[in-house]
Amino acid sequence: MTILEAIQPATGGRTITDPATGEAVGRVAEPGVADLDAAVAAARAAQPGWAARGDAGRAALLSAAADAVEAHAEELAVLLSREQGKPLNGPNARFELEACATWLRATLAVPLDPEVAVDDGETYAEIHHRPLGVVGAIGPWNWPMMISIWQLAPALRMGNTVVIKPSEYTPLSVLALAHVLNTVLPADVLVAVPGGRGVGEALSSHPGIDKLMFTGSTVTGKAIIRASADSVKRVTVELGGNDAGIVLDDADPAAIAEGLFWGAFINTGQTCAALKRLYVPDSLYDAVCDELTKVAAEMPMGVGLDEQNVLGPLQNRQQYDIVAGLVDEARAGGGRVLIGGDPADGPGNFYPATLVADLPNDNPLVAQEQFGPALPIVRYSSLDEAIAWANGLNVGLGASVWTPSPARARDVALRLDAGTVWINEHGAIDPRVPFGGAKQSGYGVEFARAGLLECAQPVAIKGAAGSFAPSA
Ligand code: NAD
Repeated sequence: MTILEAIQPATGGRTITDPATGEAVGRVAEPGVADLDAAVAAARAAQPGWAARGDAGRAALLSAAADAVEAHAEELAVLLSREQGKPLNGPNARFELEACATWLRATLAVPLDPEVAVDDGETYAEIHHRPLGVVGAIGPWNWPMMISIWQLAPALRMGNTVVIKPSEYTPLSVLALAHVLNTVLPADVLVAVPGGRGVGEALSSHPGIDKLMFTGSTVTGKAIIRASADSVKRVTVELGGNDAGIVLDDADPAAIAEGLFWGAFINTGQTCAALKRLYVPDSLYDAVCDELTKVAAEMPMGVGLDEQNVLGPLQNRQQYDIVAGLVDEARAGGGRVLIGGDPADGPGNFYPATLVADLPNDNPLVAQEQFGPALPIVRYSSLDEAIAWANGLNVGLGASVWTPSPARARDVALRLDAGTVWINEHGAIDPRVPFGGAKQSGYGVEFARAGLLECAQPVAIKGAAGSFAPSA
């Protein structure tokens, strides 16, 4: 039996279509809120047993789960490509499966010894971290498998059980991933419940959920924060962004063009921490526009299962309409389309890789999150002005600085309001480096020790020196 056959209902369900071809990919059962209650109850019942395995016991099972993901990586990548639209090749479906295993293993490698807060001969205090209980995870449709791992891996390592609700656009990818993980994990430690906004709302206010991990838009994040308030749930919210990149006047346009391109167009631009507005000084403006256009012209876009493609369709028509509308507005507002901007008729949500020059900083393509393959390139004449523009929005997920000068890179990085500032790269997340947003891009971090501790209750144990036995 294939994984897809295993996760589909015997009869009925909603048909999921391939955004590249419109063909049916599979069917998903749509449980209601009553099924969510049963899922939360099952996860609660499983939690004490999971916690009782201890860190080593849990880590051994999670490591075996990473092996299982690797063993099924190609089958999962094909399903992901068909449902999400992203090509198998390039920084896309196979890359996402590799990231799933990498992040799972990196989560297991973080040391978690209790921290000694005070040891001055008079007082001794240490901080332990206990499971919170059941973590509810709600995710988006752009990197459905990888983001699920970001949410469930730290939660499980810390001894929580997880109820995960995938995006209604990409439920099969998450159900398939959970199915593979569950070939190794004990029953009900990880429960996936597909459904739309209603199930998400019920999960965010559910009294049986102790913590929410949400990745998605800022609008939904605010609704989730409100819904979680009555039960004072812990919440980590990774929200939307509109990342700026600033090219400094000593950069080499030809050398940085490919990095800029993939910073912006990874996953066909449908990436939270993608480069979404590029600021280029007068002196390099034409050269950067030319070099980026050359790179964009070489990137094949098409059906994901075709091995040659590295760019795919938008995952859904709603997002396609947002991108198309912003590019049309940019053109009407005086933007010069360097490449793209003219989608072909035909099946699939294909919008070509598009570069738009000569826009003012307040044009909607610059000021709003496009979340698709259309990059505005804005000219600046003073670096202070570019930094002010980069910091001028109410979101701040990532940012980047492009220069061969380490000193200038550091100076500019320290002036940017974002959760991460990359140097000569953009969106290059790393499981060893905490990742989170500034301003309305969210709060809380994922990855590394800081991310793991967000899935735990810190407990301080304190007394006079010698009053209790320290941890070994
Ligand atoms: P979305 O907010 O529309 O949906 C995300 C999830 O929330 C879905 O599972 C959806 O069913 C659920 N949901 C919708 N309304 C809800 C409600 N009222 N209560 C509870 N759940 C609800 O986001 P999307 O369109 O799937 O994803 C794109 C957005 O996500 C972009 O803004 C992008 O920048 C952001 N994103 C952020 C990160 C990050 O790490 N910061 C990563 C990926 C995507």
